[in-house]
Amino acid sequence: MSKHMLTSRERIIETLEARPGELCDDCLSRIADVKPRQQVNIICRDLKQRGRLRRERAICPECKRQKILNTLIGLNNKPQPDEIEKVSEVRENEAQYHVSYRSAAESLDSIRRQLIVIMNQLDSPHNQRLGTAAREGFSDRLTRLADSGIIPTNIMISMRMLNAMRNAAVYRECLIDDKDEELIDLAFQIVLGWWNKRRIENERLA
Ligand SMILES: [Zn+2]
Repeated sequence: MSKHMLTSRERIIETLEARPGELCDDCLSRIADVKPRQQVNIICRDLKQRGRLRRERAICPECKRQKILNTLIGLNNKPQPDEIEKVSEVRENEAQYHVSYRSAAESLDSIRRQLIVIMNQLDSPHNQRLGTAAREGFSDRLTRLADSGIIPTNIMISMRMLNAMRNAAVYRECLIDDKDEELIDLAFQIVLGWWNKRRIENERLA
């Protein structure tokens, strides 16, 4: 249900990002729920043209058939272990976070990785052990955490917006203007403000 709040393109990106490896058009159509299958083909070809996706013949890990498989080419910066330290050091008033990044896409990708670190810390060890978190896309996981009351609705909205902006910047090469940047900045401040307050409260209770 929640995935229909996303565009077909976002569902494809989130599905491919959530799983290790690659998928054929048929499996992608079914798992991302993007129909008809031709729509998947059009979006994947477009992503390929933008240099954001590889299409190569191999055995699909899902249907085990020899097919053309789609693999995303992201910004190629997986979460670093020290990023986990970084998030816990982030303070509410650090508005300068984006200055040192080379581009809006990298900046947004970094924000998204920090949001994932936050979700990792919020998610129960039970879900992480079961691998639920690993199989879900960013949006489905966010919805689950909001539905279970762990993330407040307004924070969920800011996080969703940041993730949508990041997907657009990374995979669509959309340009971020000054106003967008203000919005991104503010949304990230809202999330960090909540996160820091929550941490301080938890420390006091501990
Ligand atoms: Zn397949």
